[in-house]
Amino acid sequence: MGDLFPVTFGRGVARGLGGELRARHGPPVVISQPEPWASLEPDFGTEPAAVVMVKSLERQYLDGLVTTLPAGPILGIGGGSAMDAAKWVHWNRGLPLWQVPSLPSVNACFTHMVAVRDETGVHYSADAIPEMVFVDFDLMREAPAHLLRGGIGDVFTCHTARWDWEYAVARGHDPAWDDFAASESLRIVAHLYDLAPEIRERSDDGIEGLMELHRLIGKMCDDYGHARFEEGSEHFFAYAFEFVNGRTIMHGELGSLGVLVMSALQGNRPDYARQIAQRAGIRHRPEELGISWPEIDATLAALPGFVAREGLWYSIANDLEYGAREAALVRQALDF
Ligand SMILES: [Zn+2]
Repeated sequence: MGDLFPVTFGRGVARGLGGELRARHGPPVVISQPEPWASLEPDFGTEPAAVVMVKSLERQYLDGLVTTLPAGPILGIGGGSAMDAAKWVHWNRGLPLWQVPSLPSVNACFTHMVAVRDETGVHYSADAIPEMVFVDFDLMREAPAHLLRGGIGDVFTCHTARWDWEYAVARGHDPAWDDFAASESLRIVAHLYDLAPEIRERSDDGIEGLMELHRLIGKMCDDYGHARFEEGSEHFFAYAFEFVNGRTIMHGELGSLGVLVMSALQGNRPDYARQIAQRAGIRHRPEELGISWPEIDATLAALPGFVAREGLWYSIANDLEYGAREAALVRQALDF
């Protein structure tokens, strides 16, 4: 079992980091995205050795960064792609790593592995450990409110994922059941329920609490080598949505939509899921997410075939028969 990654929380903790990093390890190499870098650049504190705006997580692109970037401490600033690209370069080159997540939406800054894409799919490799993760409340509040609140997605997903895990094990499909991970999953969702109003307000406590949950989930992913306690039919709904409709929306919002929809189909406390969504103030109605009912219906109709073809973990999605009764349940689940 690994350790939780080191974190520094606070307002403005990402300001002047360039100067600090230079004093410790030399001129930093910044791997970032346009908005957060524009925010931090004016008082970065030094001239970086290089600045890269990450374009993709394709293997070829990432390896290009590894071979072309100058040697220097790596500073990742941004969302999941920036975190993962920074981890990849750090791990391949043996350079020190500092991370500055700009949204409380992913656990990429708290996991060892990188989700690298190539022609055969997504592969998890690397073993990255940052010297420090800086969670700057002010930087995170610069993001649109709905994106910050959507950060609950990959925590909220524990609600449906844990249920699917138990469902699969009961049918002899998954030998990896772990009482502790499953009970942690319940506890994480209960904590999210308590924290949700603070997240809605985007308070320091709300952001810190949410990042602590992502930090714990990141450690659990590394410890167990899988994410069944956090990834189930709600994620498969999201992947199928992307496949069927050929587009996506913010991962955390799509995952949250998946929790609301699939908890209703599971018969797994959909009222509780609804309360969490309400308390956190996340967008969940199709029209506010810019998606249509035909897109949702097509996703659910395709879901059983999709999960079977993709070989995804066994879940309620495998046994879903999407008819009029199910369509009505789903409409009811999103009507608030
Ligand atoms: Zn996710």
